[in-house]
Amino acid sequence: MNINRRKFLKLSALTASLFAVNKNKAAEIITINSKKTIKPIVISTWRFGLEANAEAWKILSTQGRALDAVEAGVKIPEADPKERSVGYGGRPDRDGRVTLDACIMDDFSNIGSVACLEHIVHPISVARAVMEKTPHVMLVGDGALDFALSQGFKKENLLIKESEDEWKEWLKKSEYKPKVNIENHDTIGMVALDMNGNLSGACTTSGMAFKMHGRVGDSPIIGAGLFVDNEVGAATATGHGEEVIRIAGCHTVVELMRQGLSPEESCKKAVERIILSAKNRNKPLSEIQIGFIAINKKGEHGAYCLQKGFNYAVYSPEINNQLIDAKSLL
Ligand code: ASP
Repeated sequence: MNINRRKFLKLSALTASLFAVNKNKAAEIITINSKKTIKPIVISTWRFGLEANAEAWKILSTQGRALDAVEAGVKIPEADPKERSVGYGGRPDRDGRVTLDACIMDDFSNIGSVACLEHIVHPISVARAVMEKTPHVMLVGDGALDFALSQGFKKENLLIKESEDEWKEWLKKSEYKPKVNIENHDTIGMVALDMNGNLSGACTTSGMAFKMHGRVGDSPIIGAGLFVDNEVGAATATGHGEEVIRIAGCHTVVELMRQGLSPEESCKKAVERIILSAKNRNKPLSEIQIGFIAINKKGEHGAYCLQKGFNYAVYSPEINNQLIDAKSLL
């Protein structure tokens, strides 16, 4: 090569994203000199992400697949009645019914999703079964429940006394006002990169407390609440689902990473789009919270939210399962 090596390295830093698809010799040199990939890594939304990450880490740290790790991880808050926005113990809709949304996506773009599913503690596993055992990608309501039962899932009562009491209290005024950062809604979204360098993600929630029966949020919608592209990165979301769906939130985050932005910059730009979309509709920003988290193929992570108060849990060889406050735009 007739180019001075130092100049070449400088050039390579500027054009690394171009070389990612270039299989010539220069790309090899850049790969050798570029930052090391951090793997495995798992990140997930909110404080309950810590326990979920710990479970996922058991699989990731023993060479397991990211897909298995994210499913096992999010099952922890799903089964925990103390977590009142996910799975068993989740707050009901306005009719007193606990309806769950979940989806999962792997490194081959396999996807599975369930929406408005009742009576099943682990909707994420039903979503995985939809992915692996049906010709479809999404089942909803009674159809999702029938399918779950046919697969051997047990029918259970998910409405715990605390949630029932809250719902009865809510009925006195029946005002639907999802609050920002007050836990009447939240989602566990988790994305992971495994030792083989493959990505997967999972996302599960009981959605907005006291929503209309049949309401579906962003969490079971691939591209909105979750998106994985094994060439690029993975992202998941929490917050007011109607806003996330409007901008195809997580697909947006991943596409921004594809253009070379860091996970944090990509999440920030997606939140900026949420703001624009809300302003166009005269929707007061004070009534919305959105948080995005993302990882890329190098195992770099990042997040951004609209209002202060959103945090996410990170477990990697460098960060031993810690909660990190996301930066906010407001
Ligand atoms: N995104 C969820 C939904 O809209 C709720 C949340 O994460 O706060 O159903």
